[in-house]
Amino acid sequence: MDCLFCKIVNKDIPAQVIYEDDQVIAFNDINPQAPLHFLVVPKKHISTLNDINEDDRELVGHMVMTAGKISKNQGIAEDGYRTVFNCNNHGGQTVYHIHLHVLGGKAMGWPPY
Ligand code: IMP
Repeated sequence: MDCLFCKIVNKDIPAQVIYEDDQVIAFNDINPQAPLHFLVVPKKHISTLNDINEDDRELVGHMVMTAGKISKNQGIAEDGYRTVFNCNNHGGQTVYHIHLHVLGGKAMGWPPY
């Protein structure tokens, strides 16, 4: 399958990996939008949030838990951070393998446009 994030999961292309376990990998975003910007990516290929199902409940929970743990380890948890799942065109999704963005190290604005 020609999927960029599957290639990172399989170590076919390099990434700045900051965390990995049997279910997820987390790496720094190549085009950071904040002083700290990393992605939490499931090893299982799921194209969009529209494609998750009941079997993925624990996996998606693990992605969120992992984002929180890494944020603590990276020292951004106390001041706070932004988490984002982009979905499809209107959500701004460009890589069709679900990923949780975590952005921190500065105050974020709202609304996000
Ligand atoms: P999306 O727009 O929500 O799908 O987010 C995709 C993210 O992947 C963007 O923030 C990109 O900068 C990031 N990205 C694309 N290619 C790479 C890569 O090779 N390594 C790390 N991040 C990447």
